[in-house]
Amino acid sequence: MTKTKGLQLNEVSKYYAEGSNRIAALDHVSISVKPGEFVAVVGPSGSGKSTFLSVAGALLQASEGEAKLNGHSISTLTAQELANIRLQEIGFIMQSSNLVPYLTVLDQLLIIKRMSGKVKRKDKEFAVKLLEELGLGSKLNSFPEELSGGEKQRTAIARALINNPGIILADEPTASLDTKRAHEVVSLIAQEVKSGQKAAVMVTHDERMLEYCDKVYRMEDGRLSLAVLESIV
Ligand code: ADP
Repeated sequence: MTKTKGLQLNEVSKYYAEGSNRIAALDHVSISVKPGEFVAVVGPSGSGKSTFLSVAGALLQASEGEAKLNGHSISTLTAQELANIRLQEIGFIMQSSNLVPYLTVLDQLLIIKRMSGKVKRKDKEFAVKLLEELGLGSKLNSFPEELSGGEKQRTAIARALINNPGIILADEPTASLDTKRAHEVVSLIAQEVKSGQKAAVMVTHDERMLEYCDKVYRMEDGRLSLAVLESIV
């Protein structure tokens, strides 16, 4: 049986106790993101977006419902299996690039490869190819302090892609960028999603970035619904 690629959440809820009350940070959330699909999740602060990304990224177990990553149902996996899935099958892109200050651009990628074994020549070739695709071909030996904000974030995208994950999760990837660099970064994510057939979710407050996405969902009080674009932009 072939496993369904991409990300599926089926009636996922996540509850937190607050005093004697129960807060539904996620309330029966269902979504399916297929390979090659780039979806955005918008919504006010406190609506459940981080909780959603944490469940989608196998960082947090749901209280109810099922989350499937590339066909693996995450509630059935051990901590070690979850760690492997996070390393091999998910690429995380965060608000800030979180680069290691004393590593060159190329080494930021190779250190991820080193975490799962020996770095082979083909790994290095793939890292260079990725960095070239992301416009960083002339920066391979630069250190983070020598890069612009956009270049740092593009390095972080390349790092998220080094293990060729099927799923990309981005949490406000343009938060620290000016408009021009924000467009550059999100259009590059969109390009990688299409060329590499990744299933990608981006949480964003930045409405200008929605044009790069195939679908836009809105999170409100833990409930996720498909948004009509005209009502947002
Ligand atoms: P967003 O990312 O949209 O700002 P969150 O997912 O961080 O929203 O939070 C959703 C709701 O769940 C909020 O009401 C928040 O206070 C609550 N929440 C999030 N994490 C926890 C936690 N670890 N313990 C208790 N409540 C939490």
